[in-house]
Amino acid sequence: MDMFKPVRDPEIKYTQLFINNEFVNSVSGKTFPTINPATGQKICDVQEADKADVDKAVAAAKAAFELGSPYRTMDASDRGRLLEKLASLIERDWSFIASLETLDNGKAFAFHGSLGDVFFCCKVFRYYAGWADKIHGKVIPIDGSYFAFTRHEPVGVCGQVIPWNYPLAMATWKIAPAVAAGNTVVIKTAEQTPLSALYLASLIKEAGFPPGVVNILSGYGPTAGAALSNHPDVNKVAFTGSTEVGKIIMAAASNDIKRVTLELGGKSACVVFDDVDVDKVVVEAQEACMTNMGQCCVAGTRTFVHENIYDEFVAKSRELAMKRKTGDPFDSTTINGPQIDEEQLNKIMELIESGKKEGAKVEAGGERHGDKGYFVKPTVFSDVKDNMRIAKEEIFGPVQQIFKFKTLDEVLKRANDSTYGLGAAVFTNDINKALMFSQGVKAGTCWVNCYNAVTAQGPFGGFKQSGLGRELGEYGLQNYVEVKNVVMKIPQKNS
Ligand code: NAD
Repeated sequence: MDMFKPVRDPEIKYTQLFINNEFVNSVSGKTFPTINPATGQKICDVQEADKADVDKAVAAAKAAFELGSPYRTMDASDRGRLLEKLASLIERDWSFIASLETLDNGKAFAFHGSLGDVFFCCKVFRYYAGWADKIHGKVIPIDGSYFAFTRHEPVGVCGQVIPWNYPLAMATWKIAPAVAAGNTVVIKTAEQTPLSALYLASLIKEAGFPPGVVNILSGYGPTAGAALSNHPDVNKVAFTGSTEVGKIIMAAASNDIKRVTLELGGKSACVVFDDVDVDKVVVEAQEACMTNMGQCCVAGTRTFVHENIYDEFVAKSRELAMKRKTGDPFDSTTINGPQIDEEQLNKIMELIESGKKEGAKVEAGGERHGDKGYFVKPTVFSDVKDNMRIAKEEIFGPVQQIFKFKTLDEVLKRANDSTYGLGAAVFTNDINKALMFSQGVKAGTCWVNCYNAVTAQGPFGGFKQSGLGRELGEYGLQNYVEVKNVVMKIPQKNS
């Protein structure tokens, strides 16, 4: 198989729930369909997890975490080897997995799409493989005749709930640090995109993970997702998705003080000063907004452009959007595939209509593409005002809002005038503007002269209602360990 060629009709090998290293049917026997968003047609039915399946999976994860279990007694370096092996298996099946992702999610196979996502997953598993035997505490010279040290222990059973926009990558961001730190996992995938994670389950088994360490459930949010995030034997919940559901998860976690991390929505600002190479930044700013059909929590959907270059920037953005090839995501020249489902399509179209009604100017797109599948034409709005709905609400579609600004102070204030605080970017050749902006902006990531430079090593997460805690990098491990202070009385202390 050519490593970089899609398999147009990948065989669907796994449709059952993955519990205790076995593929099993749901307790209820219920299934649900997963749909190809490029056609609106059913791909297959998958088993539907509910509370009873969550109970089984959590029990398996709890048993795998018992003191003395094969997993708890394993050398930390061997946990690292499991993650490394998993990365190699993913790499082996790269094209196949990317094809599965394109089929189920609709993202382009080639252009900033599934191939790149799978590659990034390998990077993340390898990165955390290296951490497994480097997570440790300190010896601390506390007052008194004591010997004191800290242990960085795994939290326990982690319940993880992920969205559909980056199905395999989101599973990876959650599973890799959890296992590196010695936790066990029950992960519920998004109902729109169960397939790539089920294939990952087969590789987890092949890599030799002990039973119960990673359990993967397909199912809906209010049923399986809620059962998992409320489960008394789940010690930590990690969630990525909407701010609305994030609030529900956080409230539920307060019942038994579960550890909770949240990666939520955004309305990120991408600020362009007048000293840049306009041709280059037009491309970067549009990609910041429209990559993955705009279904990206960190999408730079508010493009603020300095008044001196505003008209030129808008004209070039319009031209570029009109050239953004929309269609079959398996075609190597396609950039813009379908949105994930009809609900998202309708939500995006409703917001586009609101933008038109509120007086923003449609420069490109502004309508659905075709009548099959869930495609939206790449859309650019100019003359956008801060109080419009398209300026404030997360659209999660290929819809760029271009605002005009005059000064650094003004644009910083407007960039921060949002309930969200996930990402931000500034494009300028003036070091002072770059530093002043990155210092003042309230966002978990601030890119300077780039966008979407998300790496395995650097932290990712949000200020304000964009989330709680960080994923990736060393910071991403902090949420998966409990710090225990061990204090031993000794006859005499010597320095
Ligand atoms: P969502 O938050 O409803 O779904 C995300 C995940 O949470 C899915 O696995 C879902 O099954 C689960 N879930 C839903 N309700 C739950 C509950 N009560 N308890 C536990 N789990 C639950 O997101 P959505 O409806 O798919 O999309 C709606 C909007 O959310 C989008 O338009 C977009 O604005 C935003 N979104 C953000 C991200 C992100 O990466 N931050 C990802 C997807 C969607």
